[in-house]
Amino acid sequence: MSSLLVDNIGELVTNVPAAGGDGPLGLRRGVALLVEAGRVVWIGPARYAPAADRRIDAEGGAVLPGFVDSHAHLVFAGDRAAEFAARMAGEPYTGGGIRTTVGATRAASDDDLRDTVHRLRDEAMRQGTTTMEIKSGYGLTVADEARSLRIAAEVTAETTFLGAHVVPAEYAGRPDDYVGLVCGPMLTAAAPYARWVDVFCERGAFDADHTRAILTVGQAAGLGLRLHANQLGPGPGVRLGVELGAASVDHCTHLSDADVDALAGSATTTDPTVATLLPGAEFSTRSPYPDARRLLDAGVTVALATDCNPGSSYTSSMPFCVALAVREMRMTPAEAVWAATAGGARALRRTDVGALRPGVRADLMILDAPSHLHLAYRPGVPLVRQVLHNGVPQCRL
Ligand SMILES: [Zn+2]
Repeated sequence: MSSLLVDNIGELVTNVPAAGGDGPLGLRRGVALLVEAGRVVWIGPARYAPAADRRIDAEGGAVLPGFVDSHAHLVFAGDRAAEFAARMAGEPYTGGGIRTTVGATRAASDDDLRDTVHRLRDEAMRQGTTTMEIKSGYGLTVADEARSLRIAAEVTAETTFLGAHVVPAEYAGRPDDYVGLVCGPMLTAAAPYARWVDVFCERGAFDADHTRAILTVGQAAGLGLRLHANQLGPGPGVRLGVELGAASVDHCTHLSDADVDALAGSATTTDPTVATLLPGAEFSTRSPYPDARRLLDAGVTVALATDCNPGSSYTSSMPFCVALAVREMRMTPAEAVWAATAGGARALRRTDVGALRPGVRADLMILDAPSHLHLAYRPGVPLVRQVLHNGVPQCRL
């Protein structure tokens, strides 16, 4: 069995404070890390490092768990650069542009969609993302939702059925009929390729009754629950997500005290509902950011993700989201890095990623910088020098 030793590490972010590391990131120095069969098998003082078949010299760079991007929409065709330009010139964001992408996606071939998914997944990987959730939601027919998920499943186990992204034009004025389709034949066709079900619970999209109906039948079909909630305004989504035991409620931009209390109460349970913040969306729609400080101070488990999609957040960069979270959302660099790694893992209810300790998947990144602080301190700079995914180096050294 081939083994790989990563040594000359400037700083190791473990996210395992109990193992003797400093602070919530469990920082360790002077250590090396051994990988075998795609898993981390040993972490300890570099001078005691076991012999290995191969070695990667981190050259004093920081080593972190790979980013866990728990919210992305990669199965689509076309782009909406013109809509972005119009928005930057003063037009408001309403979510209506989703229908533009639906038309382009339905018209695209499987290979076109596959090329986009692979291109964006590779782009994310080069920036340190080793686990990525991918949603459907631009097909919105039985066949197009199933094929979106089938293509997403080629690159990730974290696939999410988002038939309830928006009511498509052919169902305008008949949302009950569309929800019936989502809960019936569309769910049946999508479920074999999906781990999760998601609903865009927002005024102009799906209300509380529709959201509850879809999540309830999705759960009965064996899918885990997640929600788009409280992005464009206050609403019932966050509390509904907590009530139904969703793994994550995403966006959380407009929260009442009752919403924060519900999330904080959930955080003390064995399966908390994570608040996943998506600052790329606020950046790209020039909207006020969610108040991460308020959530953290209340004890809520917070994750960061990209929301990568062609309309409201066309970035695959977790380092960019970390920098935004620190600069615009009053998170400390340590909190933002934790949220982008361990937080994302919790939002996907995964214990094998998002941290570095013996037994986990060998998903990690090596930075061209001595500390995790540089991810926020040096925004826009390509600091990720090497990525290991399942123990396999992804970049040419
Ligand atoms: Zn989204």
